[in-house]
Amino acid sequence: MMKVPFLDLKAPYLELKQELDAAYKRVMESGWYILGQEVEAFETEFAAYCGVQYCVSVGNGLEALHLILRAMDIDQGDEVIVPANTYIATWLAVSHTGAIPIPVEPDEKTYNIDAEKIEAAITVKTKAILAVHLYGQPANMDLINEIAESHNLKVIEDAAQAHGAYYKGKRVGSLGDAAGFSFYPTKNLGALGDGGAVTTNDHQLADKISLLRNYGSPVKYFNEIKGFNSRLDELQAAFLRVKLRKLDKWNEHRTNIANQYIKALSTFKSLTLPHVPSWAKPVWHLFVVRHPKRSEFQKYLNNLEISTMIHYPVPPHLSDAYMREQNYGNFPITEKMAKDVLSLPISPHLTEQEVIRVIEQSLAGQVLREGEP
Ligand SMILES: *Cc1c(COP(=O)(O)O)cnc(C)c1O
Repeated sequence: MMKVPFLDLKAPYLELKQELDAAYKRVMESGWYILGQEVEAFETEFAAYCGVQYCVSVGNGLEALHLILRAMDIDQGDEVIVPANTYIATWLAVSHTGAIPIPVEPDEKTYNIDAEKIEAAITVKTKAILAVHLYGQPANMDLINEIAESHNLKVIEDAAQAHGAYYKGKRVGSLGDAAGFSFYPTKNLGALGDGGAVTTNDHQLADKISLLRNYGSPVKYFNEIKGFNSRLDELQAAFLRVKLRKLDKWNEHRTNIANQYIKALSTFKSLTLPHVPSWAKPVWHLFVVRHPKRSEFQKYLNNLEISTMIHYPVPPHLSDAYMREQNYGNFPITEKMAKDVLSLPISPHLTEQEVIRVIEQSLAGQVLREGEP
């Protein structure tokens, strides 16, 4: 039986072995491992890729978001609007400043924050909207920016799952006041370790994040503010420069798979497929379907050695970490999603045969379901 892995992290290394090995050697032999030429070059290249003026690399995606909020002086007593259905890092970035994350339900079709529901969550304490481009699809940014402007709020993009996605012809990372990216190995642009970056057109904000990531120190041993240690390694920057050149091609491969899935699985009645609004060009970090009997369907595929995952089984407000703290209320759309979402394999190195196998077995699983009492 042909195994279909959810994601093969070794495949991009094998594709780019020569270039990645050369990058490794270049950094090793340079004798310079933190904040040097590779980091500087990657920042220039990634800013250009996103269509922004500045990129400041940091240690990981959580820190990218956390340092943006810090640089905006968001603090204890403040509130930040976040999606109820996101990876917990979005919420933690807010909590680590001392501010409180205020969850808003997603739109049932796009799974992104329902911009129509944001206004009702705004109070005098609200300082910012932290929108997530979940599963690789851009959020409804024009409406979010409009609401933010009328309430004098900052807009931050969590672009950790959406490197290269377009919203109305503009890249994510360029759509708000600042954006946070993650280069965790499984992301569309992944390092071979941890990494992250902030993109922005705001010169002052970029400068402040450069300070915050490096002990608040503009010059070694002179500290302007109380900073953190959150830097991208030279080695990871060198790897990311190699992989950045492949990102568009890899995203295109993901898109082809997504289009195949959507076309072939449209006859699968009990399966809800992802919806793409006309203004979005997603990069398919994940291909998330919904099934009323999710665990049976997952088990069925698993028995056929087709790996799937759940993003995410527990929404942040129901996690032990946040439950203990306060009652955030009920979020029925988010809670239902946690029970019925399932991510099918999608990645730049999934083969045509593997895609066909996922489709065929999924469709066969539909017949099995219908035969059940
Ligand atoms: C991965 C991810 C993060 C955090 O990135 P790390 O590099 O793992 O810290 C934040 N937000 C979202 C939506 C993510 O998927």
